[in-house]
Amino acid sequence: MKRRQFLTLPLIGVPLYFARELSGQGREQRSNLKVKTPVVVSTWDSGIKANNAAWPILEKKGRSLDAVEAAGRASEDEPSCCVGLQAWPDRDGRVTLDASIMEGDGGCGSVSFLERIRHPVSVARKVMETTPHVLLSGEGAQAFAVANGFPLEDGRLSPDAEKEWRKWLEKSNYKPIVNIENRSSWPPADAGGSELAPPYRFDDGSFNHDTMATVALDSCGKMAGMVTTSGMAFKMRGRVGDSPIIGAGMFVDNEAGAAVSSGVGEEVIRICGTHTVVEQMRMGRTPEQACREAVRRIVKRDPAKARELQVGFLAISKKGEIGAFAVQKGFTYSVTNAEWPKGKVFESKSYF
Ligand code: ASP
Repeated sequence: MKRRQFLTLPLIGVPLYFARELSGQGREQRSNLKVKTPVVVSTWDSGIKANNAAWPILEKKGRSLDAVEAAGRASEDEPSCCVGLQAWPDRDGRVTLDASIMEGDGGCGSVSFLERIRHPVSVARKVMETTPHVLLSGEGAQAFAVANGFPLEDGRLSPDAEKEWRKWLEKSNYKPIVNIENRSSWPPADAGGSELAPPYRFDDGSFNHDTMATVALDSCGKMAGMVTTSGMAFKMRGRVGDSPIIGAGMFVDNEAGAAVSSGVGEEVIRICGTHTVVEQMRMGRTPEQACREAVRRIVKRDPAKARELQVGFLAISKKGEIGAFAVQKGFTYSVTNAEWPKGKVFESKSYF
């Protein structure tokens, strides 16, 4: 494909029929889920592992900020298509990472287009705690990380990422895939370009997953959130998604609640997604109603396009109610607290 053609390709996911194929892992759906606090909630089934890193902190009455950072670091250490240095690269074969972290009192930090640093979420926290800024990007973010003791890694692609990138180069097609984690079979029967999609499981049997995002409410009633991602696989070099944009991929306010998103970041940025969700909770909506409203705005803008992409929002209110809503079926989230110390996975409701 010529570069020009690539640039005019819309940012769409797989067709709806495929989305249906992927959906319905038979997870419980709950409206108005009110849970015991402290609690940690992460996107996707793999959120269980992220929560496992966060829960011991919350259980010992630790800070929600420490808990979400631990969740992010655990995700960044795991091999996956979509988080950390082992993730899939941009179209030029370089892994560029985005991350953000926020506390419910408005403290926040983020990094975008960060290369060769293993723990972007911790760099984001450093930005928050030691600089007058909110967002550092690219070379500057990397230099800041190195100056603060984060090792500069070698920048080689993981064998899996190398293999998939080479496969992608054969067609150079760009189609974000909905619900990378929750596909019911691999390869799907009629995937419409799915040869470009990440595998549901790696060769060693471990699960692949999407962007990881976590929110926590600690025993002092304080909230925090984080998002960490390599963004859309095979994106244009320089592309930054919603994850490091405060109020798009993540927003936290102790007076109302916290929200995170996963999916096509451009759609989330356009509606200031998670800020919208938190403001809806402030006005009295439940987390699920608030997430539904954000999804409705995405769909309303371009209903035909919305049928072919995925965005999921996940939220927690200051009272400890949890809710989610997605454009397509198949968006899941993991909840860990004293009631479910090993975590429990729920499936979000969806527009389509
Ligand atoms: N939201 C992320 C982005 O647009 C991608 C994802 O959630 O998978 O970069």
